[in-house]
Amino acid sequence: MTSPTAPPPEPLWLIAANVVRWRRYGDGGQELRPGTKAYRGGAKVYILGARPGGHEQVTTVGPGRHTGAYITLDMGTRHLHTFRAALVRSPTVLRREAENDAGRVWDGREEAEENAVRLEGLAAAYRAERWEGVAHPTPCLCHTCLVTPA
Ligand SMILES: [Zn+2]
Repeated sequence: MTSPTAPPPEPLWLIAANVVRWRRYGDGGQELRPGTKAYRGGAKVYILGARPGGHEQVTTVGPGRHTGAYITLDMGTRHLHTFRAALVRSPTVLRREAENDAGRVWDGREEAEENAVRLEGLAAAYRAERWEGVAHPTPCLCHTCLVTPA
C-alpha cells in the first residue's frame, strides 16, 4: 500500500498497442479465436519492454480478459498492432512498470515513438512468418486481412 502522503508517481513514456480482434489458430491457422487467452480482442495494453534475445515476445500490462483487473504478461508481439508512444499517468500501470524487470530500451517520447514504429513492423513480420505459405481461412478476420482487404 502506498502512504497517503506519497507523491504520485512520475508520468512515463511507454508504448501502447491494441490486441488483435482475431488471431489465426489451430491446424494450418484455419481457425479464428477472438483476442488472446489473457486479453480481449481490441484491448489496450502498455508495453514495458522485451525479453532478451529478440522481440517475438513483449511484456505487457493490460486489463485481463476475465476480470478486467490489470495483469502483467509476456505475450507474442504478433498479437498486437497500432503501437504508439503514450504518456502514462495511471498509478496502477506505473507501479507494475516499476516492479517489472522487462528490458525497456527507450527513454522519453522520441525513443518511445521510434520503438513503436519498429514494433509495428516487427509485429507484421512475425504474423507473416508464423503462417508463411499457409492460406488464410475464407473468410478471414485476422489482423493482416482486416487491414488489407482483398
Ligand atoms: Zn487472414
